Amino acid sequence: NTPLQEDDTEIYDLIQKEKYRQFSGLELIASENFTSLAVMEANGSPLTNKYSEGLPGARYYGGNEYIDQIENLCRKRALNAFHLNPAEWGVNVQSYSGSTANFSALTALLQPHDRLMGLDLPSGGHLTHGWQTSKKKISSSSIYFESMPYQVNLETGIIDYDQLEKTASIYRPKLIICGASAYPRDWDYVMLRKIADKHGAFLLADIAHISGLVASKEANNPFELCDVVTTTTHKTLRGPRAGLIFFRKKNDLEDRVNNAVFPSCQGGPHNNTIAAIAVCLKQVATPEFQQYSKQVRLNAQALSKALIERGYQIVTGGTDNHLILWDLRSLKLTGSKVEKICDMVNITVNKNSIRGDVNMVSPGGIRLGTPALTSRSFKEEDFVKVAELLHRAVQIALKVQEKAGSKMMKDFMMACQDMEEISILNKEV
Ligand code: PLP
Repeated sequence: NTPLQEDDTEIYDLIQKEKYRQFSGLELIASENFTSLAVMEANGSPLTNKYSEGLPGARYYGGNEYIDQIENLCRKRALNAFHLNPAEWGVNVQSYSGSTANFSALTALLQPHDRLMGLDLPSGGHLTHGWQTSKKKISSSSIYFESMPYQVNLETGIIDYDQLEKTASIYRPKLIICGASAYPRDWDYVMLRKIADKHGAFLLADIAHISGLVASKEANNPFELCDVVTTTTHKTLRGPRAGLIFFRKKNDLEDRVNNAVFPSCQGGPHNNTIAAIAVCLKQVATPEFQQYSKQVRLNAQALSKALIERGYQIVTGGTDNHLILWDLRSLKLTGSKVEKICDMVNITVNKNSIRGDVNMVSPGGIRLGTPALTSRSFKEEDFVKVAELLHRAVQIALKVQEKAGSKMMKDFMMACQDMEEISILNKEV
């Protein structure tokens, strides 16, 4: 028996069940991945016992001889993995997650109530890029700063850079944020830099979703033109759950970012996580990881093509990266219902809003990503089979909706009972 089995069978059993769930189904959530056993070993190590507020060589606690070496190695590997010159770029590796990395970056770059512009959440942006509704400021990035989002074009689904330029010339932001959680196309950093420069604004790229692709040169390089780059480490990068903040070594950015992380926004770093990030970044710098990233994109393209061939609408007509946005609205089906059917047959996806949705609570699309299944060695032909299984799930959802005779979720769930197609598809998955 393991120590956990001895001490706490309830948690041990639930972990075993979750492990089985992760590996027995088809994991298509674009922000998830399967990290390596080496990363998990570092993450579950005795480093979790140590306090080390401060930076290597300047800590507020004793006993940090090895912790300093680990954090320095992590910083060195982060710059190396993203091909950065240490004379021009630095990195802080202490953020607990992508959200705290973003709030720390805003704290470093802005004064309270300064103006920022980020991609709107219904256009695929992230909460931490200034999300607010017409009625309520929701994210701390809109509570403590003023936010004016930009959008994707309603017809094309592509970012409307012309409109962004026009709005920026009126709003005059101090910061423009690029990056997204559900945007299938690459970014025009040249255009964004041009707009930011007109207003003396900082340009921040949040590459949380695409950082593995950026490191592998499978995506445009934000480091050429941005002042600060943030990322999570657990999506396409395939590491532990955490965040990184890269900064140009100019305009005091180094001190501003480091002080914003600690003491402004955080306390003691999670040293076990920092060691696990270092392990992940060593893997990222290998030819195997480059091959993996290439395959992630090929798989996303194969999945998108296979769904289009089955008559479905994919936002922007395809993808440049690891994710696709599937627009279900012409089928008169919501993302929530397809997500529910998929859950019942062990295909994990998430409902996602599509620009133009009238009801945010019931979004009209599904977001699909290929990073996790590519880690399980899926190739293009496997994703054609995944598309077929998704097609069948949608056909079942349509049938259930008809049987339910109403659009209400509770009627839909009732109508799912005793549907033979669901158990048949479940077995096949
Ligand atoms: N930034 C982007 C673009 C994201 O998609 C996410 C999470 O999905 C985050 C930041 C936040 O990361 P975390 O969940 O680690 O706080």
